[in-house]
Amino acid sequence: MTQIGRHAADHDESRRGAQCSEPGVEGAIAAATVLASSGPRVLVLGGSTEGFAAAEALVARGYDVITSFAGRTKRRRDPLGASRVGGFGGVDGFAAYLAVEDIALVVDATHPFASRMKSNASAACAELGTPLIHIDRPQWTRQPGDDWRIVPDPAAAAELAPASEGVCFVTLGRQHVHHFEKRHDLDLLFRVIDPPEQPCRHPRADFIFDRGPFNLEAERALFEERRVTCLVTKNSGSSAAEAKLAVARERGVPVIIVDRPTPVDGQVFSSVEEAVAAAAEMLGRPSA
Ligand code: NAP
Repeated sequence: MTQIGRHAADHDESRRGAQCSEPGVEGAIAAATVLASSGPRVLVLGGSTEGFAAAEALVARGYDVITSFAGRTKRRRDPLGASRVGGFGGVDGFAAYLAVEDIALVVDATHPFASRMKSNASAACAELGTPLIHIDRPQWTRQPGDDWRIVPDPAAAAELAPASEGVCFVTLGRQHVHHFEKRHDLDLLFRVIDPPEQPCRHPRADFIFDRGPFNLEAERALFEERRVTCLVTKNSGSSAAEAKLAVARERGVPVIIVDRPTPVDGQVFSSVEEAVAAAAEMLGRPSA
């Protein structure tokens, strides 16, 4: 089902804009949104803390902002401006969406591990000549006392997780739960935002449904109560998820850490502030 456009008088609803869950060129065209702002239109590829902050900062500067979500989580937090939900349908669908929506700039604020969306955005923006900037938060780096074992992907992480007396705590995201199903030598604790789409068939897997930020005291209590003896995570670099690494260090717990995907080409900023300043310089002042 597709809804097209909203009128400026709808206030809150108009700020949310149209939502479309149909991928592909037709879906992209059907998602055309009529918005109130007259400033240049910016598409923020969201699904991250940075995407939320960038959208709100760009709206505050007077730009006409659409934030796009993949639609993976049930509890989405919409920033100010309009939003849309669902894939675009690959590079062609994304290029069609940019053209139909008359997007002046794309701000890629997807999670550092969302590599397909990043590469689709690069290809479509290059094809149309649409400016693109990436927000890529800094990685976590190994600290003295860390026992990190760096792996290239979640499948390798599941293979390498060491069997022990305690529990293997996994925070890779629900889409990677299945990699652990054959590891019957592990007691598993997954922390995910939403349950995996397919039920987990591991005989000794437990789930915590929660989203960050996670503070140090709570992480200490969790490691203690659940007898965590191995941590499996990915190098998201998020400050909201960093406390578990400090607790692993304190307790001498080994960390299997999935390395960042290959960096994208193009203009990359490590903070929202820098990215928004660069966006404003590119776009100029919005008309009143
Ligand atoms: P991905 O593998 O790079 O993307 C897979 C497909 O999902 C893309 O080809 C695209 O579909 C669609 N998609 C991804 N991000 C989108 C967006 N912001 N708006 C519209 N469609 C989008 O990405 P992923 O790793 O599945 O992550 C999906 C979303 O969750 C991202 O927006 C990301 O910021 C967020 N997220 C990811 C992680 C993670 O660990 N990967 C963690 C937290 C949040 P089409 O090809 O049909 O356009």
